Amino acid sequence: MGAGEWKEWEFKALTDIWTGDANGKGNRFIPTGLMGSIRWWFEVLVRGLGGKACDPTDGRVRCPNHGKRPNEADHHCVVCELFGCTGWARKFRLMVLDENGRVIQNQIKAKQTFILRFIPLRFIREEEWCLLNATLNLISKCGAVGGRTVLKPSKEWGIEDLGKDDLGVHNNQVIVKNSRKGLKLRKNDIILKIDGEQVSSIDDIERILKEKRHGDPIEIEVKKSNGETEKIKSWAGKRHHIDFGLVKLEHSPEDINCSRGEAEKYVIDSQWRKGFDYKPFAWASLKYFWCVKGKYLARLNNNESTFNMVIGRPSEKEKSSDENSDKWIAGYKATGGQLPESKKVFSFKNTNGKALTFGFVNPKEKIDPENMKSRLKDAWGDEFNPDIDFLTVDQILGELFNHS
Ligand SMILES: [Zn+2]
Repeated sequence: MGAGEWKEWEFKALTDIWTGDANGKGNRFIPTGLMGSIRWWFEVLVRGLGGKACDPTDGRVRCPNHGKRPNEADHHCVVCELFGCTGWARKFRLMVLDENGRVIQNQIKAKQTFILRFIPLRFIREEEWCLLNATLNLISKCGAVGGRTVLKPSKEWGIEDLGKDDLGVHNNQVIVKNSRKGLKLRKNDIILKIDGEQVSSIDDIERILKEKRHGDPIEIEVKKSNGETEKIKSWAGKRHHIDFGLVKLEHSPEDINCSRGEAEKYVIDSQWRKGFDYKPFAWASLKYFWCVKGKYLARLNNNESTFNMVIGRPSEKEKSSDENSDKWIAGYKATGGQLPESKKVFSFKNTNGKALTFGFVNPKEKIDPENMKSRLKDAWGDEFNPDIDFLTVDQILGELFNHS
């Protein structure tokens, strides 16, 4: 003992929560997926408060600083202090429990209650509890949780929500073995071409699709079971990679109190490692964050989506716009030597009535808040009042901390 009492936050899942494992299977619950996601939002918050947070997925910048010993200043950043890094263990154990106190083993489903129990393994400072509490509030108010697939492009490919297991090959022809309600690809359809390229094996399909993101438009030429050939406007990937992870915080510990000022003072303390400046993830900060509650961007039909209107994918966007800006917002997969880039706009709709759209701006890529507001206005029209609906750092931070 001596490390102190555990603290619990109770959530309700508003959508299924995807924490998929390395093989992209989402039916198991993987606590490290949730942990990675909480850490990612903690980093966003810390950067928004003026602190420095390393990116633990990037070997070039992640802590520790090997020139220092673990207890010396400048060994690790303020986020690693709580979440750990090589040579500095995480200060807590996270248990994810159902309302009866049992450890959750299977994927968390919409409407399910789940409890995050943080058990201190070493002493956790008041300010750390406070930042954690603010992070979990931020996720509930303006964010989403799930595996990092939501933030980094997924390796798992798909075709109109179907995957490898749904396809079969017979006589050099790829046949749809399983389909689902609402999809245009039907059972026993033969896939002839994708985007004009002939396919005769699953490998062919994988090669064409693995470079695409979930939701990218594609054209599939199929031979129907009646012998007719048809061109289908469809999408790459799987939509469950797009809409998941909305949660609502129902109960928080009552003994956590701190102001924004106290949190800011803590994250900029001189003991934390700060001597790294790595531009690729500088955008992942609450400073550049925005969110719109109650609205979502969606696929309107196979050719159009409000999502594409906002991220400006070249084929959909009529207006001339800056290509690099669009590329930055839309993100891209890793290609020869180039690291993958996350998309910067995320939108969620769920059947329980909560919708949310959030994202990041980057003035250096000519996407400032005004530019983003006008993109959203294009998509939502009069339903969207930028002055009221578009929340940014000060409004959001104001809700996360106590006033003092
Ligand atoms: Zn770090």
